Amino acid sequence: MLAIDLRHLTKRYGNVTAVNDLSLAIRPGEIVAFLGPNGAGKTTTIDMILGLARPDEGTVQVYGRAPVDAIALGYVSAVMQNGGLLKDFTVHETVRYTASLYANPQPVSEVLERAGIAHIADRRVGKCSGGEQQRLRFAMSLLSNPRLLLLDEPTAGMDVEARREFWTAIREDAARGRTVMFATHYLEEADAYADRIVLIRQGSIVADGTTAAVKSMASGRTVRATVPNADRAALAALSGVSSVELRGDTVLITCTDSDAVARHLLTQTHASDLEITANSLEAAFMALTGDAEVPA
Ligand code: ADP
Repeated sequence: MLAIDLRHLTKRYGNVTAVNDLSLAIRPGEIVAFLGPNGAGKTTTIDMILGLARPDEGTVQVYGRAPVDAIALGYVSAVMQNGGLLKDFTVHETVRYTASLYANPQPVSEVLERAGIAHIADRRVGKCSGGEQQRLRFAMSLLSNPRLLLLDEPTAGMDVEARREFWTAIREDAARGRTVMFATHYLEEADAYADRIVLIRQGSIVADGTTAAVKSMASGRTVRATVPNADRAALAALSGVSSVELRGDTVLITCTDSDAVARHLLTQTHASDLEITANSLEAAFMALTGDAEVPA
């Protein structure tokens, strides 16, 4: 059985198509990064998985159930960016109070331990850093011992160290077999903490694979050359080419097989001044998800 099974999901807000015919299958135990720039449709998709938004078209199943049923059964928990915490409660009180809302909660001490906040159990929430508050939300999300944990940009605004601590706690917990899907717009975060990256742009999936596969797709090369009257369509049709940009007589070709592109340019066109550069991950992410120009 799949942990998440999305089929042909579409969600529109007025004339904005936030999610566009998106299909995705996530198996139990996978740690999946849902990566894309702001406005790509990540939150909208997660809201539909949580039953907070209703798809205009398509279906959502979570462990074989409709989202509301999966949540009622305690299969799913979410860690959102903000909200839901009372400043005057201590960390321990917050988790204990939340636990009282569940029929069969996990022991409070255990979830505090797993979220890495047992040592600050007596601290008031208002005195906790952003990272500690997120680990507190994580602790609360563990109370139902969910099979699936959904996190929407959980580390927004945290510094590097706080992010690292947060993800260490998540990864250690996930090693026990929990399915984790997190939205992020940081490629580094997806790279460091996910087994699989699903890249989304304008509501559609543009790449999906192991972290290594998406990274190697992402970290291709840019071939730059002077080509008078370049045939854009012919260049775009070469194997492994992901984008072709023309700036006057200069062509910029983003690709995975720069040898093949260079060979073509030097033998089939009047190219000169050929240069090949490795793309940074950041540039590659832009090439895959944005409309922005790739820096050469
Ligand atoms: P992401 O989480 O990837 O940043 P979102 O899912 O929040 O993206 O948004 C996708 C698109 O849908 C954006 O263009 C956003 O402006 C639009 N959108 C999201 N929620 C609403 C809403 N409640 N009303 C109108 N437009 C929305």
